[in-house]
Amino acid sequence: SEVIKMTGIGKTYKMGSSEYVALKNIDLTIHKSEFVAIIGPSGAGKTTLMNIIGCLDTPTQGEYILDGINTKCSDNKLAEIRNSKIGFIFQNYNLLPRLSIIENVELPLLYMNIASREIRERALEAIRKVGLEFHIKHKPTELSGGQMQRVAIARALVTKPQILLADEPTGALDSKTGKEILQILKDLNDEGNTIVLITHDMNIASEAKRIITIKDGEIISDVPNEKFYKGV
Ligand code: ADP
Ligand code: ADP
Repeated sequence: SEVIKMTGIGKTYKMGSSEYVALKNIDLTIHKSEFVAIIGPSGAGKTTLMNIIGCLDTPTQGEYILDGINTKCSDNKLAEIRNSKIGFIFQNYNLLPRLSIIENVELPLLYMNIASREIRERALEAIRKVGLEFHIKHKPTELSGGQMQRVAIARALVTKPQILLADEPTGALDSKTGKEILQILKDLNDEGNTIVLITHDMNIASEAKRIITIKDGEIISDVPNEKFYKGV
């Protein structure tokens, strides 16, 4: 089924009397269980596109249907869609330093109408998936970068979102740790999670099954990653 359906999406930033076209005429459909990388140079429009996919920002043109829901709606409704449908993973983890690992992972569930015992169970389940169950009482500052990103992935997973949206998730990590994080994302994809990965690094993008290249605000290429389809 279609998780993301964008038609003619554009984004123009107004700066005083001038305008800047950051995205133009983006047509993009992503199905459930895909693993898509969006790659492009700095300034290509990746962050803008990610913000629209993640319902953090709205387009100035076109239509964006997310999991069957039209995202042209009030800000409150858009926040509700974002919180229930998207799991975010950022380069800098965005963990709350004063909260323990388990509390960080529980956070997205506190805004939902869920019993506290179930919140704890679901957070533990997400933490187990990323292999951190021995550290749940630690604070983020006591962890390595790779461990912090695992926490962030657990936090993204805990709401069972329709999409995991990862913005340069390995950007702050050494290459060995980065590979481990990518392997977690691949394993989650094998379990059926839909993953959209934003990066400027072709080595990272080449781990995805479909690679979309954007340049100057437009999709210039959208191809299956042949290394996954050799001999098929
Ligand atoms: P990328 O993530 O690929 O580097 P961005 O989406 O951040 O690209 O930016 C695309 C272009 O849009 C850049 O030229 C950037 O300066 C511009 N831009 C991004 N956000 C804004 C904004 N809020 N206001 C004005 N211009 C912006
Ligand atoms: P990235 O490193 O992912 O390309 P940027 O540093 O381009 O991100 O942008 C960081 C944030 O600042 C984004 O939310 C982007 O929309 C915003 N931004 C980027 N360029 C501009 C700009 N020229 N004016 C205002 N905001 C901008």
